[in-house]
Amino acid sequence: MFSILKKDNNSRARSGTLTTFSGRTVETPAYAIVGTHAEVRCLPAEKMKDARVQLIIANTYHLWQRLGKDIEKFQGLHAEMNTPDMVIMTDSGGFQVFSLGFGREHGVGKVGGIRNSSVGTERSPSPADRAALRSHPGESDVRRIPSSPGFREFPPDDFLIHNERNMRDKNLVRITEEGAYFMTDDGERFLGPKLSMEIQEKLGADIILAFDECTSPEHEYEYQKQALARTHRWAEECIAVKTRNDQMLYGIVQGGVFEDLRKESSRYIGNLPFDGFAIGGSFGEGKMREVIGWSVSGLPEEKPRHLLGIGKIENILDGVAEGIDTFDCVIPTREARHGGVWTREGRFDAKKSANKNSDAPIEKGCVCPTCAMGVTRGMLFDMFHSKDLRAGEYATMHNIFFFNTFMSEMRRAIQNGMFREFEKETRGKLKK
Ligand SMILES: [Zn+2]
Repeated sequence: MFSILKKDNNSRARSGTLTTFSGRTVETPAYAIVGTHAEVRCLPAEKMKDARVQLIIANTYHLWQRLGKDIEKFQGLHAEMNTPDMVIMTDSGGFQVFSLGFGREHGVGKVGGIRNSSVGTERSPSPADRAALRSHPGESDVRRIPSSPGFREFPPDDFLIHNERNMRDKNLVRITEEGAYFMTDDGERFLGPKLSMEIQEKLGADIILAFDECTSPEHEYEYQKQALARTHRWAEECIAVKTRNDQMLYGIVQGGVFEDLRKESSRYIGNLPFDGFAIGGSFGEGKMREVIGWSVSGLPEEKPRHLLGIGKIENILDGVAEGIDTFDCVIPTREARHGGVWTREGRFDAKKSANKNSDAPIEKGCVCPTCAMGVTRGMLFDMFHSKDLRAGEYATMHNIFFFNTFMSEMRRAIQNGMFREFEKETRGKLKK
């Protein structure tokens, strides 16, 4: 059940309550924290409420690779993560079709502007994706589920170097009309709509996603069109094979940066009996709001909409203004582990020497557990440079709290008919 409580008069923004078929609720707009391997790094389950987490997204491809045959014994994400009340989503594996495939070949993230990033990127090939290439189910470095998550768990910054140099690498995915073959150390492993649904039903999230082909921002029109036909066919196949009725299934709108394809996909997917919708794929630098607008144009008003893998403050404002209800992104968590700290004025790098000996709070007025303890920018600087494990945890807590608090203030603004003012004020504060 999705109840829209208030619609904005000047945009498509809306605020509501999403109650999943399993009876869990999320106040929208909301931000999903990424827990790729059924854990949120540097944030133990018992601290999630303190960080104001409502929604988590885990990754079907990586859990499937890591669990191997153990997936039969898997108790479900809520039990495994010890988060019985939290709404959990799973990605379908469609993003890895891109990140391990053309994302590598083209050397790009899905926004297409990764060369500008200094700390981390949105949905660029992640350390998890890269680690998965070396993995065997049941043993390997992806299996490290830390009981006390720490900074050292995180691999070196090679993925940043990879991104910044915009390096091209080998495409490890072979796409057919039936699905995708992933090249691993164990040989090729096939993932298609039917298997993705079976895995997601075993993982047991509240919201599951249709298997799709996430394309690269560098793909031309003809390729996007062919990929879109596959995504649409796979969407229908996912609906047909789904068996559990306590999970909500979202269809995914694709179509790259092409207006006609996005609108066509929105109509096509929007007309299928999905419980909600997600917008996936590449958006192109500077075209985000436009592409989101085309993508929601054919979707039914009364069903929830999720924007996949986008989570910078300015882009959340774009999404909400175009009628998006939920978001997910690695930004708050991945950047925190590298010293990237978010505030109302934008992001700063705690490892930069400007913070050395600084008594300034991480963010003035922040009441998150980290700031409430009196952790200063100078302390964070020292901890990051001495490889103190607490650095990643403190920064992660602040960042997640920051994004969730931002979402809650935005919900209030929408409910009070003040979204336009909220958007203007927020954009004004962001440093250019
Ligand atoms: Zn804080």
